[in-house]
Amino acid sequence: MRKHNVTPIHFKKSLSVGFFDQIHQHIADHARDGLILLSSQLTPLLINQTAQTYLGQADLPNDIFKRLKVYTQKRNHIQFDLKQWLQTHTPTKNTNFKTNMLWIKADNQKALIPVIFQLSIIDTPCKHSDNQLLLLIQDQSSQIEAEAKLCLMETSGTGQFITDSLGFITEPNPIFMDYTGLDAQTLRKTTYIDWLKEQVIFKVPFGLVMEALLEEGHWSGEVELSTHNAMPALLNLSMLTDENRNIEHFVGTLQDLSDIHQAHHKIEQLAYYDRLTGLANRTLLHNQLEDILAKHPLHQSYSGLILLDIDSFKIINDTLGYAVGDELLTLVAQKLNTLIDKQHLLARMEGDEFALLFPDISQDASEALTQVLSLAYKVQEALDTRYTLEHRSLHCTVSVGVYLFKEPPQEGYSDELIRYANMAMHEAKGLGGNQVYLFEDRLCNLAKQRLEMLQALNHSELDNEFQLYFQAQVDTQGRLISAEALLRWFHPTLGFISPGTFIPVAEEGRQIIKIGLWAMHKAFIQAKVWSRNSPKLRVSINISPIQFHEHSFIELVIGLIKFTQVDPNNITLELTEGVLIRNTQLALQKIQHLVSLGFHISIDDFGTGYSSLSYLQKLPIHELKIDQSFIQHIPNNQDDVAIVNSILTLAHNKQLTVVAEGVETEEQAQFLRQQSDTLLMQGFLFSKPVPATTFEQQFL
Ligand code: C2E
Ligand code: CA
Ligand code: CA
Repeated sequence: MRKHNVTPIHFKKSLSVGFFDQIHQHIADHARDGLILLSSQLTPLLINQTAQTYLGQADLPNDIFKRLKVYTQKRNHIQFDLKQWLQTHTPTKNTNFKTNMLWIKADNQKALIPVIFQLSIIDTPCKHSDNQLLLLIQDQSSQIEAEAKLCLMETSGTGQFITDSLGFITEPNPIFMDYTGLDAQTLRKTTYIDWLKEQVIFKVPFGLVMEALLEEGHWSGEVELSTHNAMPALLNLSMLTDENRNIEHFVGTLQDLSDIHQAHHKIEQLAYYDRLTGLANRTLLHNQLEDILAKHPLHQSYSGLILLDIDSFKIINDTLGYAVGDELLTLVAQKLNTLIDKQHLLARMEGDEFALLFPDISQDASEALTQVLSLAYKVQEALDTRYTLEHRSLHCTVSVGVYLFKEPPQEGYSDELIRYANMAMHEAKGLGGNQVYLFEDRLCNLAKQRLEMLQALNHSELDNEFQLYFQAQVDTQGRLISAEALLRWFHPTLGFISPGTFIPVAEEGRQIIKIGLWAMHKAFIQAKVWSRNSPKLRVSINISPIQFHEHSFIELVIGLIKFTQVDPNNITLELTEGVLIRNTQLALQKIQHLVSLGFHISIDDFGTGYSSLSYLQKLPIHELKIDQSFIQHIPNNQDDVAIVNSILTLAHNKQLTVVAEGVETEEQAQFLRQQSDTLLMQGFLFSKPVPATTFEQQFL
């Protein structure tokens, strides 16, 4: 609404005002519309304050028709001839004339003001004088604004209403009526407070809402509509008052939040729930563990974490395929769901590993222990059963690890808790599976060692503490073909730590990236040195999946080639099948890149990982290393003999080199030589891993 300056009464003393006395002029000056009183000859007799603002400082009121700039259009500035209009329209007592919308340009103002002129006649009480004409200039700005608002209300996509000063809902928009299921007539008889009480469920006490609205003039928050189509909504309430804080209107808007809620739900579902089984995922379990740990120690009672893993699931997956594996996982998840209560959280960690969180069992340790163990045994026994899948039935069992805890609040400790339960679960597995194992002190010591190691890794000085050893790989005639580089860690206080122990920890803590780069660097230098006298000798280097998946891995390798001047044709990179589980497409590209640089690629520990042989087809690899667990029991164990033979056949078809690892006895070597004359052997029978200098003395 356009506000005119209310200056003191501005009375044109020079004008004869006829029957207007001081009071009339006062009223005229305070009228919102512009008022110009004209004689029948169109001489201005009175100009009120508002009209004066349109005219600017006109000393000569006779000049008004020149002064008043009126346009027929806002854009084109086509002038409107007011004088002519007045002359052509002579109102009578019963008629008056109105112009269409016109535009006035007030003095010193940029914006044009939309107005309508209205001409009416005023009877003068004196018989002898002519009638006078009253020209009203009506500012249409607020009208237009109101129309725009109305238009907005109709099209905004939110429910909106305006009340009168008593709070009755006088102007609901169609969407508001749709949301509430009430028509305009009903709403007009309803105050907004009645409506709020009737249809809106607040998450905060109603009193607080009203307090905020009446004191701050505004309240907004999420609510639930309890209407025919119940929905979540964002409700905005505002109170409009005049300068003296008299209530004029309440305005409300209602935005449907269903879509947003659905999207939230979906995101949550993706972020916190496992897609296959619909159970909580690892992240959600972590969060809940953190919540428990964050509780005040005084209120804390014992909680239990149970981890379980299906025995021999890998074999099921490998031999019967992933689809069958997935089917089994789904059934196990369903079964688990029937065994737990509301208070428990059941999650799928990864693969065939599930977790059960039993929070706040009891303040009493032995009571808590009894309860968590009874749940663990219940689960283990119930899952030891035959599962009916679509095309077959399968018997399987689970290994269960239990950890009971009442930890002091510690951020980020949930990883540790899971690790402890995991250690217990692995103990259960190691004891033959299908049993429950409770985390105990011995494991606790192991866990402590692990932490120590993690800290030591963080502070390790690579050149002082680490060394690269080499182990020979020989052909069936015993000739040296290649050497595998193997890390050795001699810690100043912890002593010698074998890579089998520290590499998994360094992978978890990601120190393997630094250590692996160091090892690669040393191995490249060694390969370069040896290649001078033995140009065909190859050096094999183990690459951790963590290292491989680093996005800068290829660049680092290229940098090292330049720096060491090594010929990649002398290097074999040993990757495990695990590398391909994650990011298969990207992993494949990386392998292709490495091959194009000249490296050979070997699949380490072949046969123990996710041996879906189909991926082999896609990979440009050169070598398979048969895991030592298959070599150990040949030639007596027929299963292992069969596995070794099938790997040899496969490799032969694909023209891949095969390295048999962990050859310890002449009997094993003899058997292997009989199977293939191209295979290579590596193991204590030929040499232990030794420092480079020893290796040179022995072999070069
Ligand atoms: P791996 O790659 O399978 O290495 C072969 C392991 O078998 C080595 O253990 C080796 O010492 C051992 N070995 C060799 N011959 C025989 C044998 O006849 N009998 C028996 N029982 N064992 C034998 P090591 O050196 O303790 O390494 C263990 C694992 O640590 C390696 O397994 C590899 O996965 C990892 N590793 C070692 N060095 C590195 C490295 O530089 N980088 C990465 N990422 N991993 C490494
Ligand atoms: Ca290896
Ligand atoms: Ca291996």
